[in-house]
Amino acid sequence: KTILKFDGVSKIYSNGVHALKNVSFEIKEGEFVSIIGPSGSGKSTLLRAVNQLITISEGKIILDDEEISKQKGKDLRNQRRKVGMIFQNYNLVYSLSVLQNVLHGRLGYMSGLNGILGRYKEEDKIEALNLLNELGLKDFAYNRAADLSGGQKQRVGIARAIMQNPKILLCDEPIASLDPSSAKTIMDLLKSMTAKRNIACLVNLHQLDVAVNYSTRIIGLSKGQIMFNDSPENLNAAM
Ligand code: ADP
Ligand code: ADP
Repeated sequence: KTILKFDGVSKIYSNGVHALKNVSFEIKEGEFVSIIGPSGSGKSTLLRAVNQLITISEGKIILDDEEISKQKGKDLRNQRRKVGMIFQNYNLVYSLSVLQNVLHGRLGYMSGLNGILGRYKEEDKIEALNLLNELGLKDFAYNRAADLSGGQKQRVGIARAIMQNPKILLCDEPIASLDPSSAKTIMDLLKSMTAKRNIACLVNLHQLDVAVNYSTRIIGLSKGQIMFNDSPENLNAAM
């Protein structure tokens, strides 16, 4: 089943920069797709367009059979719940515990105060603790998020995103701030945790070798246009 479809998407920023030009592609459930391309090629614009963090200038974006690029208000909020986000700089709430950060995924951005005040369901707490266990962070649940290493912070980011029960995870340079060993751990966990749950992954990456190692498909962007959209094997053959 197709979970995300871009159909002739273009984005022109108000400064006149044409960041995406007639971009079309599809992603199916459980696929692991990397976007590669030089700095400025439109990778983050593409990711931000998926859940309408920016409005597109032209084309359509279909998420889980609904045209998110036309949705507003409550419909848009419900659609955005299907999209988990992983950031280069983790975006955790550093004054809160690891467990509270993970529970935020379930409570959503609209009801963050409930998480801060400790209002959550016992079953959610158990699920969050199980996720932390799966990510090797069982002993850190009650630590402050601020006290973790970079790799541990990103594991919390993964737990929070999965707690949201997303259909697709958008990962914007998820390993760009990490040392090679933590980067490998994070890519392994992203791949295994999403595969197990049939969640699609769309990952912006700088490193071609990482994209080749982990992806079922690679999308190559250059100056806002798709230059390549095929398996890693065929990328090697094309080069
Ligand atoms: P939109 O067309 O989606 O509304 P804007 O062009 O209004 O986007 O810019 C959104 C924000 O990004 C503004 O605050 C702007 O200052 C900032 N911005 C402008 N140029 C760049 C750039 N080259 N890279 C990143 N951010 C930028
Ligand atoms: P990448 O993620 O591949 O580095 P981006 O999507 O950030 O590429 O940027 C694509 C192009 O759009 C660049 O020329 C960048 O300067 C420009 N750009 C990005 N964000 C904005 C913005 N908010 N406003 C104006 N221009 C932007």
